[in-house]
Amino acid sequence: MGCEQKHLNHTNEYFPLVSVNWHLWPRCLNNCKFCFGTFNEIKSVLTKEEALRIPSVLKSAGTEKLSFTGGEPLLCPHLGDLIIEAKNLDLTTMLITSGSLLTKKFIEEYSSYIDWIALSVDSSNEETQYKLGRGSGNHIQKIKEIVQDIHIAGINLKINTVVTSLNWEEEMSELIRELSPQRWKVFQVLSVKGQNDDYFQSLQISNKQFETFISMHKNLNPVAENNKIMRGSYLMLDALGRFFQNSKGYLEYSNSILGTNPQEALDKVGWDYQKFLKRGGNYNWNLKMKEELF
Ligand code: SF4
Repeated sequence: MGCEQKHLNHTNEYFPLVSVNWHLWPRCLNNCKFCFGTFNEIKSVLTKEEALRIPSVLKSAGTEKLSFTGGEPLLCPHLGDLIIEAKNLDLTTMLITSGSLLTKKFIEEYSSYIDWIALSVDSSNEETQYKLGRGSGNHIQKIKEIVQDIHIAGINLKINTVVTSLNWEEEMSELIRELSPQRWKVFQVLSVKGQNDDYFQSLQISNKQFETFISMHKNLNPVAENNKIMRGSYLMLDALGRFFQNSKGYLEYSNSILGTNPQEALDKVGWDYQKFLKRGGNYNWNLKMKEELF
């Protein structure tokens, strides 16, 4: 047996792997300074045929929601096929993207297969966003344009924001109201050794600073995740079909689930199911959320 058993329940049975973030494409066109998934150590990806097997392997391990992320998932030439495969298996699907490569055409073409799109926006100020390394100075403008197409297509919208030394004092309410997401997730910048060593020190914030940002926006009901709750609470799969975990402050990888039972593969890196529940990871993602959060 592996070193971590935190995904076992009290009767020593495995918890279903309900919600998985599949970082299927390790490369990205952005250079976010806080990025915890630069994945420079990953030099290849699964073939299309191999990748198409992943959704059904996860489904058999109890997965209900599969999020496609990266790097930048839209760089994957067969992303659409993977999303269709997941939806045909009746999984709830989410595309997590910086938004830079997202087009109206893609949204329209796959709107029947995508339940959620999560976009990254860290500031209302283009200069701050640029300094953080996301986009080339027009990121917010691009997000505002593409959000309209997401709403028109009837896809649920999530906004992801990373709070750092550059934005913890910023009031983002006006922008968030304008984007009108069904869910706003706010993360405290997280150190992951080997991934964001160069810039973390200059971007880190205290728990108190993070709480200041959250309380400044409490009317918008942000889903807040500090460093403690983020570590070990996500089920993450890499571009080679391996689970990976950040609980020790650096990334550890399992064997590929294409050659090993997913639950056994997960033993090697662990998953804290209670933390997953505590951070609200098991929310009602199947609801077609017509009403807005605020
Ligand atoms: S867009 Fe995401 S994956 Fe790309 S550099 Fe930024 S945080 Fe990293």
